[in-house]
Amino acid sequence: MPDCIFCKIAAHEIPSHIVREDEQFIVIADIKPVNPGHLLIIPKDHVEVVFAMDDARYAEAFAIAKRLSDPLRRATDAAKIGIAVEGFGVDHAHIHLIPLHGPHELNPDRAQPADQEDLAAMVEKIKKEMTVKHAE
Ligand SMILES: [Zn+2]
Repeated sequence: MPDCIFCKIAAHEIPSHIVREDEQFIVIADIKPVNPGHLLIIPKDHVEVVFAMDDARYAEAFAIAKRLSDPLRRATDAAKIGIAVEGFGVDHAHIHLIPLHGPHELNPDRAQPADQEDLAAMVEKIKKEMTVKHAE
C-alpha cells in the first residue's frame, strides 16, 4: 500500500467521519469543507484519478453520489448539490459532493477546517436522512 492518506482512511488506520461504506467505497466528511456537509466519495482501492477506475466502479461512484444527493440536500437545506473532481490535493481518486446555497460556491478557496464535533453532528444528520423514505 502506498503512503497515502485516503488508503489509510479506507483501511480505518486513520479515523474519519464516515457517512457510508461498503467493500469498494468509503464516503467521509471532508475535514476542510467548502460548505457544511461537504463529502468525499473515495474508492478503497488506490487509483490516482477517477478516470482510472474501471467502468463499473466509475459508474458506481457516481451512483453513490446520486443516492446521497437527496439526503444531503435535506440535511443541509441546500439549494443544489454540486459535484467536483480536481485531484490536486491527494493523489487518490475522490469525488467531492458539496451542498450549495448559491452560485460560485464550488470553489476550493472557500474550504475552512471544521470542528470535529460539527463534522460528527453533520454526519449523523445525513445518516438519519438516508434512512428516511420520502414520497415524491
Ligand atoms: Zn491511496
